[in-house]
Amino acid sequence: MGFLRRLFGGQNDAQKQHSAEMLTYVEGTGIFIHPECGTCKRRMRLRIDKERDLENDGAGYTWHKTLVCNNNRCFRRMPTVVHFDSKFNVATYELEKGRYLTLGEFDRLEAEDKVAKAAAERAAAEEASAEEQDSAENDSDNSSGGGKRGFD
Ligand SMILES: [Zn+2]
Repeated sequence: MGFLRRLFGGQNDAQKQHSAEMLTYVEGTGIFIHPECGTCKRRMRLRIDKERDLENDGAGYTWHKTLVCNNNRCFRRMPTVVHFDSKFNVATYELEKGRYLTLGEFDRLEAEDKVAKAAAERAAAEEASAEEQDSAENDSDNSSGGGKRGFD
């Protein structure tokens, strides 16, 4: 997947309003967070309602929930606890059976998926048009994920 790195690595995200290192962004009364299922790698975008979903714990807010993977072949349950400070910034977080993507990771993975999907469609179209030329060079699945794990 080297071409993806070339496509996306050089671009800077200056036009994004939010920091790529952040886990959440706030829009009105919603806080958006992006868990990834550790089992099937499904990415999700969740909205936490500041008024209804958070418990005020004095110093800040706590979000307690058991997430359920929305892949209907998976449905993995992922208990999570996220603590926010009084300004709704993430202070600490835990997610069992999965992990939270940073905004930068989420956007990058979404964009990569879009490119990979377009490339797959193009490849399928080319394959259909050149069906008789049986290509020996078969790109094997190399989706090990790049091993980027910047969080502690
Ligand atoms: Zn899953």
